[in-house]
Amino acid sequence: MKWKIGDVTVTKIVELEGAGGTKFILPQATPDAVREIDWLIPRFATEAGKLRMSIHALVVETPARRIVVDTCLGNDKEGRHIPLWNKLNTPFLFKLTEAGFAPDTIDTVLCTHLHVDHVGWNTKLVAGRWVPTFPNARYLFGKNEYDFWNGYEENEEQKAVFADSVKPIVDAGLADLIADEHQVCDEISTIPTPGHSPGHLSIRIRSRGEEGLLLGDVAHHPCQMAHLEWSSTFDSDPEKSAKMREILFGKLAGTKTFVIGGHFDPGYIVREGNAFRLSETPGK
Ligand SMILES: [Zn+2]
Repeated sequence: MKWKIGDVTVTKIVELEGAGGTKFILPQATPDAVREIDWLIPRFATEAGKLRMSIHALVVETPARRIVVDTCLGNDKEGRHIPLWNKLNTPFLFKLTEAGFAPDTIDTVLCTHLHVDHVGWNTKLVAGRWVPTFPNARYLFGKNEYDFWNGYEENEEQKAVFADSVKPIVDAGLADLIADEHQVCDEISTIPTPGHSPGHLSIRIRSRGEEGLLLGDVAHHPCQMAHLEWSSTFDSDPEKSAKMREILFGKLAGTKTFVIGGHFDPGYIVREGNAFRLSETPGK
């Protein structure tokens, strides 16, 4: 659950995880179709063809900074489309603190995008009010992503998410709206990877000649490396998201860039036939 990229350490803190129940996200990834992609089993899927997925935050430590990338679902939230995601009461903050990252020691929060499972712990409920969970952090939101969801009326869930997990941060004066290409510190920068959401960002790590990429939701599961066209039901532009996977994975394939997903275990992208595979070791 901890990986090194040069001087940078990335630690995964899991909020929820499991296998199966993913039909609502990736309807084409049926158990039969998943079982045909043999390299997924057992690491990324069960023998029965159920996808293993998690909702997690990534703590990125550089020599100078302590950054949380994506903040999961959060406790006590309401108005979520998936029933289980309402009024959650998980020990996420306890786990984060146990791992050595007490919330008040975090100096930066970075959201790859502003969907329900990436902004939840931006805030916590205190005496009936949503207050910043990380009071000493600057929260970085992509300006394009923020502008898209600010005032968005078409989706009740997204309105609730914005109101309880994004707006309170802006109201508290802790938000910085960043360009899609933004240098966070010496080792960390953002790159635009739109498709899943209009202003989606991925996070690049470069240190001592080593490279990593935090994908966010460019792919929800490695099965989308084998089937680039298996777009998620949550993609705002399914065709664009498929194209983004083709372009990005094409650039990463065969390199030593360590790829860490927003919902699956990390690895290296390699070519496999007309598409790609996620390998535990870098290769061609
Ligand atoms: Zn997500």
